[in-house]
Amino acid sequence: MPTFDFDLFVIGGGSGGVRAARMAAQTGARVGLAEAADLGGTCVNVGCIPKKLYSYAAGYAEAFEESAGYGWTLKEPQFDWAHLKSQRAKEITRLNGIYASLLKNSGVTLVIGWAQLADAHTVEIGGKRHTARHLLVATGGTPFVPDIAGREHIVTSDAMFDLDPFPKRLLVVGGGYIACEFASIFNGLGSKVTQLHRRAHLLTGFDDDVRQFVANEMGKAGVDVRLNCDVTSVARNAHGHGLTVTLARGQQLEADTVLFATGRVPNTQGLGLEAAGVKLDERGAIAVDAHYRTSVPSIHAVGDVSTRVQLTPVALAEAMVVVDELFGKGKRRLDYEFIPTAVFTHPNIGTCGYSEIDARAKFGEVTVFSSEFKSLRHTLSGSTERTFMKLVVDKASDRVVGLHMVGADAGEVVQGFAVAMRAGATKAIFDSTVGIHPTAAEEFVTMREPMPG
Ligand code: NDP
Repeated sequence: MPTFDFDLFVIGGGSGGVRAARMAAQTGARVGLAEAADLGGTCVNVGCIPKKLYSYAAGYAEAFEESAGYGWTLKEPQFDWAHLKSQRAKEITRLNGIYASLLKNSGVTLVIGWAQLADAHTVEIGGKRHTARHLLVATGGTPFVPDIAGREHIVTSDAMFDLDPFPKRLLVVGGGYIACEFASIFNGLGSKVTQLHRRAHLLTGFDDDVRQFVANEMGKAGVDVRLNCDVTSVARNAHGHGLTVTLARGQQLEADTVLFATGRVPNTQGLGLEAAGVKLDERGAIAVDAHYRTSVPSIHAVGDVSTRVQLTPVALAEAMVVVDELFGKGKRRLDYEFIPTAVFTHPNIGTCGYSEIDARAKFGEVTVFSSEFKSLRHTLSGSTERTFMKLVVDKASDRVVGLHMVGADAGEVVQGFAVAMRAGATKAIFDSTVGIHPTAAEEFVTMREPMPG
């Protein structure tokens, strides 16, 4: 029996890696983890957490305006970008520290540096080799930027949190989660935002009604959403200030900052994957089976580097499956159906299950219920913002298979309904559930009239 320095060695200290390392160590396994940058990965450092903090910051602009309808008088509010950046940086540093102590307190050996696989059981970090019975690659992903002229002038989401100076005019390219969230956030913070997307609708894959509704609401809030637009080049202006973006149809737009939010790719470079014999799939992600085993049986991969669903809670759940299999309760499979998700646009999107189109393709006949209304809050606020809700029900089983919301705190609302949906709740169960009055969420249990089929 070969002896190893560790039972598990994890490459990558992001959501998936840290969760796997901690949980494995808590079973008594000897665990090491290598990270070359700040602990916490994308989510903590340049993703979910700072994004949500900035989304809160952006929300105040509207709240100040709306407060007048409720009797408040404010002096002209001033926004201090430098203050927000430094508050965020402090909070992220605090979280980095928490991640370090979580690892330390669970007995994980943290090795700071870039790790490379040397073979099926060995990693090399700073010239030192460590062996492990099992290796886990959890190196996450990184922004993808298409190869266009002038791409050196653009920024990706990684740079958005520390922009200097604050962009008075921001141009966002892309129509996915990151593009829509940053467009909403910087619009709220006071930038003049133009969002360019190559398709006829934002947010490919979401329910069509949600896609149209949110684009309209973002437009009402001030984002200039332009669809069917392809960017061909970006150039610095002759006088040195600002950038000119040229579209395929020849039109030109000026901006201070151009954000490309055009997807993310797995971090697979420089990890020695080839040396160890780890194969990639056709999308360039590490190929894994249903148990996150790569082409090398002793090496697993979870999270964005194996690109199933690029969400932090999914990486955490995958990490737990691996730990249970290697050190605990045994083999099990993660069920990817009915994973709820939110997009922190303004207003938020919350969604769980199938879009209407996907539900029709999978279940055949479906019944659709939808509702659009002005929330109680906005009866006095003066805001014209509206809320949208939609249920998609499989006709044969009466099961609610799609639940979609665009409105305040949609993520908070949808999380609870996701539990019911995973438990197989039918429309009859929704109907028999008493609402909480007065909330927006009660609308999900009071929709009685189906849309004409
Ligand atoms: P997405 O895949 O969501 O969106 C990428 C966007 O870029 C799409 O609109 C896509 O268009 C467009 N695009 C891709 N290539 C090009 C190109 N060559 N030229 C022009 N446009 C292009 O990726 P994101 O980077 O926004 O986010 C990555 C993932 O991170 C998300 O899918 C999500 O899973 C996760 N995430 C989750 C968040 C949350 O939970 N709130 C927040 C942020 C990210 P098209 O539609 O035509 O493909």
